[in-house]
Amino acid sequence: MAETNKTKELKEKLFMPSKKGIATLSAEDIARADEFCEGYKEFLDNSPVEREAVAYSVRLAREKGFVPFEQGKKYNAGDRVYYINRDKAVALAVIGKNGVKDGALFAIAHIDSPRVDLKPNPLYEDSSLAFFKTHYYGGIKKYQWTVMPLALHGVVVKLDGTRVNIRYGVDESEPCFCITDLLPHLAREQAGKKLSEAIEAENLNVLIGSRPLDTDDEEGELVKLNVMKILNEKYGITESDFLSAELCFTPAQKTRDIGFDRSLIGGYGHDDKVCAYPALMAALDTELPERTCITYLTDKEETGSDGNTGMQSDFLRYFVYDLALADGVEGYRAISRSKCLSADVNAAFDPIYASAYEAKNASYINQGVIITKYTGHGGKYDTSDASAEFMGEVRSMLEKNGIMWQIGELGKVDIGGGGTIAKYIANWNVDVVDLGVPVLSMHAPFELISKVDIYEAYRAFCAFYRQ
Ligand code: MN
Ligand code: MN
Repeated sequence: MAETNKTKELKEKLFMPSKKGIATLSAEDIARADEFCEGYKEFLDNSPVEREAVAYSVRLAREKGFVPFEQGKKYNAGDRVYYINRDKAVALAVIGKNGVKDGALFAIAHIDSPRVDLKPNPLYEDSSLAFFKTHYYGGIKKYQWTVMPLALHGVVVKLDGTRVNIRYGVDESEPCFCITDLLPHLAREQAGKKLSEAIEAENLNVLIGSRPLDTDDEEGELVKLNVMKILNEKYGITESDFLSAELCFTPAQKTRDIGFDRSLIGGYGHDDKVCAYPALMAALDTELPERTCITYLTDKEETGSDGNTGMQSDFLRYFVYDLALADGVEGYRAISRSKCLSADVNAAFDPIYASAYEAKNASYINQGVIITKYTGHGGKYDTSDASAEFMGEVRSMLEKNGIMWQIGELGKVDIGGGGTIAKYIANWNVDVVDLGVPVLSMHAPFELISKVDIYEAYRAFCAFYRQ
């Protein structure tokens, strides 16, 4: 017996501790997480697309004393500024006692999510039904986007330069929109196709009307004309105005609690609002940090971070250069001394699809934030790989602050892959690692996350900013 106890002791000393996850949390901890999530659910419902996410984030920031950033102004410790990039990304900074002289602390999340964009010339009529043609945005399983209520979001810029904001179909008093699918009775051929081919991208057309304009004329396209007339009355736009527009469809349904125990949240766009919100709240709740803390909510991550609102743009770097100039330090030095948590999600282990995951290196619901050392595909291509030193630093920060955390990869090696913004920040000569929340059904129109996991993410970003 003595031997067995000794073995057990040795195992406890030398082996990885078995993770108990949510079981280690007190009822008060869980209640705090639940309360935090009420704000998150509001955020998610108000932020289906990046422009709305920026507007809502800025609203929350202004309530907490953030003011617009002014180039050339000297800021003092504790000052709070926000800096908007083309209405689709926003940086929120809390100026530290040392400014950016020793570098900044970044938490960067993305606020774009997979969806269905309108084509530049979207409107047509076929068989007395009016449709919008679409081009999907980001990685979607196309079959998931048919036969569900959709809402229209975005902006239209008219020839005279006026901008019309559109958000239509979210409120239950408003109509919504839908992509049709073939009835099973006639779908023998479709059902025999590969999942990726059963619904073709060019068939993701959204039904938007079916009544012809009330006229005695026998002219064609009267359903389309009627739709355009309604749009003109409501928004003052004509068909040509679609040429200068950014419009998309996202799921119209609201965020809901999931499970008899209300432990999970189902909603559209957890990837990556489930990290954007805690990173935003950490900035809002940080008062007087040592180093300047910058939460950046970026756009275009789902399509490769290209473009002037994506993470490959110079916007955030130039913002730090501006802060550095005022602090009397070279911009590149400030950047090189910075550290970053790339706040993005990872795939939560799903027992129903267990064969896609490697159980010992997967993240689990209710086990806290997930650290992803590297992403990429096929032998660590296309990724930053956080150093042992930086992993050590982050690990020690999480342990010191009693944050529930886990480590994981995105599924089995060679089964697929993915990326985050981490590699673009690493290319700036910045230490960076991914820290986020595990998500079930990632990229689906209705994704699931755990309430305690998002709260641990908030605690992690707060601890990072306290460094
Ligand atoms: Mn993401
Ligand atoms: Mn994603």
